[in-house]
Amino acid sequence: MDLPNVHRRLEESKDAMASFLMGILRIPAIGPANGGDGEMARADHLMGFLDGFDDVRRFDVLDKAHDGVLRPNILARKTGRKPGTVWIVSHTDTVTPGDLSEWRTPPFEPTYRDGTVYGLGAEDNGQAIVSSFFAAKQFLSEELNGMSLGLALVADEETTSAMGIQWLIERGHFSEDDLIIVPDWGTTDGTLVEVAEKHLLWVKITVRGKQTHGSTPHRGLNAFAAGAPIVDGLHRALKERYPGTDDMFVPPASTFEPTRALETVGNVNTIPGTFTFWMDCRILPCYDARQVLGFIKEWVAATGADAEVAVEQRTVSGKPSSVDTDHYRALESAVEDVIGERPKAVGIGGGTCANFFRLAGMDAYVWQSGGGTLHQPNECLPMDIAVRDAKVFASLFHKLCLS
Ligand SMILES: [Zn+2]
Repeated sequence: MDLPNVHRRLEESKDAMASFLMGILRIPAIGPANGGDGEMARADHLMGFLDGFDDVRRFDVLDKAHDGVLRPNILARKTGRKPGTVWIVSHTDTVTPGDLSEWRTPPFEPTYRDGTVYGLGAEDNGQAIVSSFFAAKQFLSEELNGMSLGLALVADEETTSAMGIQWLIERGHFSEDDLIIVPDWGTTDGTLVEVAEKHLLWVKITVRGKQTHGSTPHRGLNAFAAGAPIVDGLHRALKERYPGTDDMFVPPASTFEPTRALETVGNVNTIPGTFTFWMDCRILPCYDARQVLGFIKEWVAATGADAEVAVEQRTVSGKPSSVDTDHYRALESAVEDVIGERPKAVGIGGGTCANFFRLAGMDAYVWQSGGGTLHQPNECLPMDIAVRDAKVFASLFHKLCLS
């Protein structure tokens, strides 16, 4: 089977891809931690489209924090003769639709207009599901003399991944022979492949003073005034202490940004007794996130202010995925086949399913094209982009699975 033929068939599948995608989006799949029923109904629906795979396994993982809710994961594989599987990993869950009045079309009643599907989850991660499904479909009646071909449809990505990709990795469902592609981040033109992520550290800093009337500051201690130099000083001190850059990353340096602060008092004539703010830190993998936290605690203590530093979230990143492998070169050339340009390997601020593979010592690559409407009202997927991604995945299967 020649590749131009496969690509032509995918171009002719645009409307079929749109209706497949709309069928998925009609079934809500919001995780229980975000107030939804989970992904079971959507996973049941997807099971109906897996004819032609040699091996379909389903793992429904009990969500202990939400009584009786099961979080479904599906691994569908067509077996090849050589070791290893080319996996495309997609997640089935979505975030909530947010403010419904901002949606021009209902989030759970997908609309296909001018070649674009609108609906919650169309891009994140419907794009990955539909493009990988249609790419795989082109090879299901072929003899695979190369690697196996696999689709992983996982739950719980928008919250913890503990009952999704992390659960599967911990139970040994992937191997070092596999090529892992995670289409969950990309650039409009598809010219970047994400191979590394920064560590993520969110800290909450609470500065305490003593509340009093606005006209008698000497009777209290102004926590806002004590906190302001901490916001600014810490912002500068972190940049100075961790100046390293790595040109693979966009942006190349670690970032340490004060992002959120609580209102101090509700009126102007009170000296505030507490001031609380947060820092969002994205740290290059060459640094240790625990050391950064230690530095923040010491620096704040040295100011002499009565302040508490607490960790709100910390995600450690695995080591960058190698770009010096035959697998990576196959991905590069599959992208080049379709977009006419060799993609560049980059690191970003994080975080996707790919990091769980990297933490387990495996390489994983994040690639897709288009994007930019995820987690927003009127999320959408132009079907030309789904076709383009499907062509890249088909190219990859063609290179690695057929022979
Ligand atoms: Zn996503």
